[in-house]
Amino acid sequence: MTDHSLQTRLLHNDHKFDPNTGAVSVPIQQSSTFHQQDFDQPGVYDYSRSGNPTRTALEDTIAGLENGTHGYAFASGMAAISTAFMLLSKGDHVVITQDVYGGTFRMIHDVLQRFGIDHTFVDMTDLHSVATAIQPNTKLLYIETPSNPTLEITDIRAVAKLAKANNCWTFVDNTFMTPALQRPLDLGADLVLHSATKFIAGHSDVVAGLAATRNKEIGEQLGFLQNSFGSILGAHDCWLVLRGLKTLHCRITQSAASAVKIADALSNHPLVEHVYYPGFRCHPGNSIHSHQAEGSGAVLSFRLKDEVAVRQFTKHVELPVYAVSLGAVESILSYPARMSHASMPKAEREKRGITDGLLRLSVGLENPDDLIKDFEQALGKTEAYTLLQTGG
Ligand SMILES: *Cc1c(COP(=O)(O)O)cnc(C)c1O
Repeated sequence: MTDHSLQTRLLHNDHKFDPNTGAVSVPIQQSSTFHQQDFDQPGVYDYSRSGNPTRTALEDTIAGLENGTHGYAFASGMAAISTAFMLLSKGDHVVITQDVYGGTFRMIHDVLQRFGIDHTFVDMTDLHSVATAIQPNTKLLYIETPSNPTLEITDIRAVAKLAKANNCWTFVDNTFMTPALQRPLDLGADLVLHSATKFIAGHSDVVAGLAATRNKEIGEQLGFLQNSFGSILGAHDCWLVLRGLKTLHCRITQSAASAVKIADALSNHPLVEHVYYPGFRCHPGNSIHSHQAEGSGAVLSFRLKDEVAVRQFTKHVELPVYAVSLGAVESILSYPARMSHASMPKAEREKRGITDGLLRLSVGLENPDDLIKDFEQALGKTEAYTLLQTGG
């Protein structure tokens, strides 16, 4: 069914209905073990860590959507990412984007180092720095684009080409875009990783991770590692992710259209110093992004003057939930300096643009005009407070 568009394939794929009953929702196989008719001829399934029919449906689906051949579902995005890093061995070296997701930073820096896997953080938007960071023992180039929370763009094709020329793999964390907007395997990447907790499941009700590849060696090794480490996604959670996927295209398209409107409105407000959104023509990565993705996504960041302004704004804003995470039906506002990047030293944070005035917004499915109205009233109160403080 690969000749249909992704939007259609979300609904019409090999798991459109259950061949045994005709059920149009994939059955939840809540079973840890499977009866074997004959020990000489074991069945397809024997034990649910090694394989479960509901998980197979999700794994086939993500492999298909990313135009890959092998898919795997894990207990969280971090379980998918850390299991993928187990493809490396002692003595290997990784070149990784400096504004990588905090949990990935922690795992590489505090865990892998103890196992003799070395790394170099680089500005991945600068191909020259990527090239000069590659060592004879470099095995992997690790990309996240757009990055979090400043939405910087890495050229996936160019990095993957550099990787191939140096006999390395390219892994891409595709959480912010999902296969609905960006398919890294088509751009030369070897493995795609997801926190399905975000846009893919989309309803802030499940923690899950996914991986997909079309490289047979990586696929088979990752399957072996998934079974060895055992951080699999449970059957019920697999079903929730499958259910979320059905509306993925519709949700992300609608949220991205709202994000454009909101980014525009914020950039015209005098209290907003800067809006980070790859859809803006003035964004330094706009051209590269438009050549590798089909939309700018539903996440944007904006900078107010300082922490005082952020405090006032978040106190008065009413619609978005104020929380970590992103990619949900409800808009989520977060404060990277105190949430996702709280453990990073202030100087290091500021060097990356993560100032005390920076807020990240994941746009949900509310009417964008209501969100804009809400932001404007909160900014109005922030402005009034600032004037009062300065005696203006
Ligand atoms: C949330 C997130 C992760 C981690 O996923 P979990 O499901 O929380 O383990 C990894 N990468 C990115 C870009 C994320 O946003």
